[in-house]
Amino acid sequence: MSRYRKQILFDGLGEAGQSRLRESRVLCVGCGALGSVIAESLVRAGVGMLRIADRDFVDLSNLQRQVLYDEEDVAQRLPKAIAAANKLRRINSDVVIEPHVADVTCQSVGELCDGVNLIMDGTDNFETRFLINDAAIEAGIPWIHAGCVGAHGQVMAIVPGQTPCLRCLMPEMPGPGTSETCDTAGVIGPAVQIVASLQVVAALKILSGQTELIRPELTVIDVWDGTLRQLKLSGLQEAGGCQCCGRREFPFLHGDEGSRSVVLCGRNSVQVAPSTSGKLSLFDLANRLDPSGEVQANPFLVRFRPDESEHELTIFADGRAIITGTEDLAEAKSLYARYIGA
Ligand SMILES: [Zn+2]
Repeated sequence: MSRYRKQILFDGLGEAGQSRLRESRVLCVGCGALGSVIAESLVRAGVGMLRIADRDFVDLSNLQRQVLYDEEDVAQRLPKAIAAANKLRRINSDVVIEPHVADVTCQSVGELCDGVNLIMDGTDNFETRFLINDAAIEAGIPWIHAGCVGAHGQVMAIVPGQTPCLRCLMPEMPGPGTSETCDTAGVIGPAVQIVASLQVVAALKILSGQTELIRPELTVIDVWDGTLRQLKLSGLQEAGGCQCCGRREFPFLHGDEGSRSVVLCGRNSVQVAPSTSGKLSLFDLANRLDPSGEVQANPFLVRFRPDESEHELTIFADGRAIITGTEDLAEAKSLYARYIGA
């Protein structure tokens, strides 16, 4: 316990809180900018197990704010979940780190949530957040939503049965092009650090067994203006009619809502996911693609640039592909079909 001495000295946690932390199991969905800070902080604080799900690989343009990664991870073209696990195990070998190179979909979310006490939002899109909200409310697992663009962000801790859920706040998913993204507005590192740190504070309260300290509110922060506001959300639930926590209908969890292909935030890229799940032989695929362009492969992915093309395809073992050089879903799907096969 000596490595946690300073944290135990803090009245809010104490030895009892630290013991609870050690027993806790957390899922972090997305390990980009917010996820890097969340994962590092929780591992240093001494949670028992951290499961990380991320569908992406480390890119040079991530290093400005995604603090778990370095140039070596870029050179090795590592998936973020793997690069994060490597780093986190060096930080605290007592914590069980469980990386999943996977997209969080209605098919995979149940298994990823299995046995965890808390879910952390490290995503960059509302489709995944609405899915997490359904899964968390259905299973009774607290989750901490956050988002960050430019210099501003928001944090909302959701405790099923105690606070309003994300869909009490936002009954419908924002339409395409209706909300700011890091593509249009950019993002600065300190905004991410502060927003993620507020998520971690809420996590420490919940994981140390003090869930009653979580208030029904949305924290909105702008680090450039130097403002922090806490919007009271009590009353949202009484307004009633929430499809998720009120009527307990879960259309995102049951796959009635949500698509299989998504434009990736700020990357001029589309992810295409096959409608059927299954393992792909990356070795065979690399050999098959070799005559058609430039191929790089490692045990986790194949990167392929077709001859005379401005596109690049990164294909993972679960059959997903990230197609760069386009934001057009149809074009991405046709490239997928051409080179990988539907
Ligand atoms: Zn609700």
